[in-house]
Amino acid sequence: MRPLLLLAFLQLAASLAWAQDGAIKLAEGVFAIKGPGEAINTGFVVGDRGVFVYSCSLEDYDRRLQAIRSVAGGKPIRFVTNGHHAGDDSGCNHLLAEQGAFVVGSAELRRQLLPYWPKRMEEERKRGRVKREYVEGKSLDTALPVLTFDDRITLELGSHTVELIFVGRAHTPDNTIAYLRKERILFVNDLLFVELHPTADDRSDVVNWQRILRQLATWPVETVLPGHGAFAAGNGTKALLEMDRYFETMRIKIRAMKEAGKSLDEIKRDIRAELGEFARWPRERAIPSTAEQLHRELSTAR
Ligand SMILES: [Zn+2]
Repeated sequence: MRPLLLLAFLQLAASLAWAQDGAIKLAEGVFAIKGPGEAINTGFVVGDRGVFVYSCSLEDYDRRLQAIRSVAGGKPIRFVTNGHHAGDDSGCNHLLAEQGAFVVGSAELRRQLLPYWPKRMEEERKRGRVKREYVEGKSLDTALPVLTFDDRITLELGSHTVELIFVGRAHTPDNTIAYLRKERILFVNDLLFVELHPTADDRSDVVNWQRILRQLATWPVETVLPGHGAFAAGNGTKALLEMDRYFETMRIKIRAMKEAGKSLDEIKRDIRAELGEFARWPRERAIPSTAEQLHRELSTAR
């Protein structure tokens, strides 16, 4: 029996490795790539007239491009966009643009990338975790959107239509979702962390973030691709409401601690234990910053 068990184990390990490496099908022509651990997830669409890519991490560029190619074959990557400007999301823009893709983004994304991207690439170069040729001698121009929009834009891929919708300040000032209306799929990027503590900071607007989450949860959507954390085809909108409830729980607890006379430092230190079912989520390093932002929002007349 032993060798058979070993064989079964090896097959299981191989299939798990494949699940991590490859493209995960969400609907006909619609796929996602799971970020390793807590890392960013990529969404992409393979249409008759080419490929659309949403969020891509440079550190993981080779694997993600391979996953795209494994289902898209030689079809051109027509469009790339970002849920927001962060490096784990916008890091592949320039490499895809060099292959002929148009970078599409909200005017706010462009504004955020302008000062951010060169600094981030310089950090990546120094840190040495990405191939040198991916960062050296690269210009900001190729990473910036060449097609910009204020509120929304529709991308036609023949068999598929992708609506990019700027939702405004939530996690950061430039959050944009991708909506596949016909396939009932939403790519929401960092509006959603699934069973991971999300990050909010002084660039966030958590009240607005929650409003957006509750609104999206009313859409006729079957699958939601989060920025970070687990997902599966048909997972529905439940996690959006759970994220809303996470913030609501934290706000109520912070308000109570504030009223009990606790200082901001004490609140940041003690809030985790108050989060009940959410307390055990990984990514706890994000808690102090999120708590501080909620505290800030509670202290500011709105
Ligand atoms: Zn992110």
